[in-house]
Amino acid sequence: MTKRYAVIGDPVSHSLSPFLHQGWLADYGIDARYEALQLKSDDPVGAIRDLTQFAGINVTAPHKEAAARAAEDASEAVRQLNAANTLTWRDGILHGDNTDVAGFVRALEEVAPGWRAAHKALVIGAGGAGRAVALGLSCADGPDIAIVNRTTDRAIAAAHIVAPHNGGRVSAHPWELLADCLAEADIIVNTTTLGLNDAPVEWPLAAANPSALVADIVYRPLETGLLRAARKRGLKTMDGLGMLIHQGALAFELWHGIKPDVAKARARLMAALA
Ligand code: NAP
Repeated sequence: MTKRYAVIGDPVSHSLSPFLHQGWLADYGIDARYEALQLKSDDPVGAIRDLTQFAGINVTAPHKEAAARAAEDASEAVRQLNAANTLTWRDGILHGDNTDVAGFVRALEEVAPGWRAAHKALVIGAGGAGRAVALGLSCADGPDIAIVNRTTDRAIAAAHIVAPHNGGRVSAHPWELLADCLAEADIIVNTTTLGLNDAPVEWPLAAANPSALVADIVYRPLETGLLRAARKRGLKTMDGLGMLIHQGALAFELWHGIKPDVAKARARLMAALA
């Protein structure tokens, strides 16, 4: 029987995951279907547990925390972040994973293999994706981490998640200090929704380190205002497709036991987004 997989969210029609996974399913001749399902519910945890028709589920906003609660068995990243983006039914048990963390790191490694030697990484934003990125960047031999967020309390909460993983070399800052934080960082990652759909944003990049890498995990548009400003200044950049593809590849591998071709996926997505 054809196995079914889905991405759930609300809204969900914007998601590129069906395109990404359908491409790989065809590449490897797997008899399965991947669809998008808008999930609206007053009880998202219960609604997610009822999705037994799907062998695996990707989860996007706003359901990642509900997905973590719905999972009967959760990976360490899910427990740390209290957010799951990948669910798998195995022997009647719902397993939760968070492939955003390793997905971001793999994307970064492609663009900057020596990133661990950086002195300071700045994570802008402390929502679900910001916490996953900060956790991915935190390791004993990695950079110090600064987190700046519009709501400072959320930056502080994110720093508490990171601290045990990099010897406490993490700081949280109010939004007013964004320009100062940008000037001090070697790796800069925007994880906020700012710049989504090309909404104009003034990024204070003037004092940025000329050798800094600037990444944006927003991928609509692929060249966000932040990346455009960074390129104008001659800074190295990384777009949001890498994280999208790698988090998807990790979910695909969990479900089908195959490491899918990420370069092929990028070429297909670039053509579709052009
Ligand atoms: P989220 O949990 O809702 O967090 C949103 C973040 O944006 C928060 O830090 C929020 O700050 C900040 N923000 C929103 N409006 C702002 C404004 N006007 N000024 C300053 N900060 C503002 O969302 P998320 O799940 O983390 O997703 C964030 C973005 O990442 C989305 O665009 C999503 O599509 C993208 N994403 C990409 C990938 C990928 O694979 N490339 C994966 C996951 C997410 P407050 O805390 O103050 O509200």
